[in-house]
Amino acid sequence: MTEPTKGQAVWRGATKRCARCGERKLFNRWVTMVQRCPRCGHSYERNHGFWLGSIMLNMAFTFGVFLVVFVGGMVTTWPDPPWTGLLILTLTVNTLFPVVFHPISRTLWVGMEMAARPLEPQEILDAAAFGTGEWSIAGLEPGPTGN
Ligand SMILES: [Zn+2]
Repeated sequence: MTEPTKGQAVWRGATKRCARCGERKLFNRWVTMVQRCPRCGHSYERNHGFWLGSIMLNMAFTFGVFLVVFVGGMVTTWPDPPWTGLLILTLTVNTLFPVVFHPISRTLWVGMEMAARPLEPQEILDAAAFGTGEWSIAGLEPGPTGN
């Protein structure tokens, strides 16, 4: 199998899959992501502080949803917006949305990061050592199953 295109990596991430191979089973519970893909062996945390990007993504999306809810609520109820109702609604959205969006923010960040910075040969070798063997090293050297 070949490495994904930039578009594939981002799309797979946006759909909560492994950006490299498309594997879907990456979370043990809602918030606990595996360290490596069980299929291709890719190690998701590519450097120290890697997940700050996913936190930034989650904050940006949460802020966007907040703006839509707050401005939409004001516009649709103008000239007499229910301020207490809007406050309760936006507090609820700002509390729940980041939790619900957490897994997608992680996989999306992996995809965006992979699109911006393709895997190094050493990362591909490392992944092949942990993958199922279905993903060999794509021309670098034979895979762990000798293929
Ligand atoms: Zn994978």
